[in-house]
Amino acid sequence: MQITQIKSKPGTHVKLAQLFYSTCHSAEIDINNFVTISQAEHGIRLKDFCPHASEAVRELQEAGFEAFIVGGSVRDLLLGKIPKDFDVATSATPEEVQDVFPRCRLIGRRFRLAHVRKAGALIEVATFRGSSAGGGDHEKSNGRILRDNVFGTVEEDAIRRDFTINALFLDPVSGEIRDYVGGYEDLANRRLRLIGDPEVRYREDPVRLLRAARFEAKLGVDPDEATETPIRAMAPLLKDVPPARLFEEVCKLFLTGHGVRSMEALQRFGLSTTLFPGLRKGSARGKVQVSTILRKTLENTDDRIKESKPVTPAFLFAALLWQPVVEKSNVLLEQGESEYNAIMRAAEEVIATQTQSTAIPRRFSAVTRQIWVMQARFTRTRGKRWKRLLHEQRFRAAYDFLLLRAVEDPSLEPLCEFWTKAQEGIDFSRTRYDSKDESRDRPRRRYRRRPQRS
Ligand code: ATP
Ligand code: MG
Repeated sequence: MQITQIKSKPGTHVKLAQLFYSTCHSAEIDINNFVTISQAEHGIRLKDFCPHASEAVRELQEAGFEAFIVGGSVRDLLLGKIPKDFDVATSATPEEVQDVFPRCRLIGRRFRLAHVRKAGALIEVATFRGSSAGGGDHEKSNGRILRDNVFGTVEEDAIRRDFTINALFLDPVSGEIRDYVGGYEDLANRRLRLIGDPEVRYREDPVRLLRAARFEAKLGVDPDEATETPIRAMAPLLKDVPPARLFEEVCKLFLTGHGVRSMEALQRFGLSTTLFPGLRKGSARGKVQVSTILRKTLENTDDRIKESKPVTPAFLFAALLWQPVVEKSNVLLEQGESEYNAIMRAAEEVIATQTQSTAIPRRFSAVTRQIWVMQARFTRTRGKRWKRLLHEQRFRAAYDFLLLRAVEDPSLEPLCEFWTKAQEGIDFSRTRYDSKDESRDRPRRRYRRRPQRS
């Protein structure tokens, strides 16, 4: 990994930046200085940069603007990882970016950005953001940033970013990295450090709480004490974050290859109960009980991503919320509800509770529901109607889900076997799985039964 190649200490290339910034008063960060790390030092090869992002930077620079590749892509390249996208930051305003790239699209309300397309690649070009001190189009409520369109200098843009390791500016033309906040050294030490006063920064945007957990999981970096300590107490601030944004974060946490570690980090930071309010509370404040199904699903999801197989939020939420669905449907069954209705109503309630925290777009929640309802339908293995299930669109996902349930509840193994064989095209007319006979000496799965009415 390139970052381990640091030889000379940052500080040898210190230049003075003319800068005023009001939010960031951390004793550790001297924002009046920046460090330049040469290509020979940082060791990122030019061929690792996205050629289209580099070209966009060059074109902006040729038009007289400052421009850099920034954020996660620089960090990932330094860690020897392949960045999933490249962001560009520039002194050009969105309109000026449009002058340079006439076919770009201006998007976003909270952060106004230009989407530049080059040879099919999408590059996000953002104007340097400034601090809140200057006024302008910058709206806050209880310390939370609602809109943030104050343009600023490169220095200001560096310190309004969240973590030091995300605030490195790479100039693909000169090959140099600029570091205003000590991010380069932090990355070398695998240290996660919020820029400025952590409490102020978390309050400004509580999603940073989740990002701390995500970067710990994804990058294996350790938060320093000041960054980690306030997280647990500030977790309730997540309730003010729009559910759609939290859905995006949940997908990044669990569907990008480090889901198991993300869950561990969320638990350790005490963020899980706020994110998943319907789950049973765990042994400590902020923790939830992680079911075997959920743990296995996260493991499988991480494996699937390694193998470049598709993953879907629908299955993730099915596993996340199965435990409350079972509990609620059991209550409904005891009240005399049919098996199908019990699961449907429980699903409704559980999804309603969850969507107060994170959104679950309908196209996913509909599939989640189907996976759950099929669990009830799987138990009907007599007659001929079971065959229809094999041809239903969600059969495969629901079957995979059944297999996971069997890990937690071995009494489901014969049922799994039935459906495994069913897919092999075996004639079941003689070797039919008879759920009554086979379940005689097994404990009852309560939600399967319809209680007798008196
Ligand atoms: P990844 O791409 O792995 O999700 P990233 O760091 O690139 O990680 P993005 O959400 O793509 O994350 O954001 C790009 C950059 O924008 C970050 O590196 C950071 O500098 C800045 N940024 C993103 N979210 C915030 C935030 N909530 N507060 C401050 N800066 C942020
Ligand atoms: Mg990114």
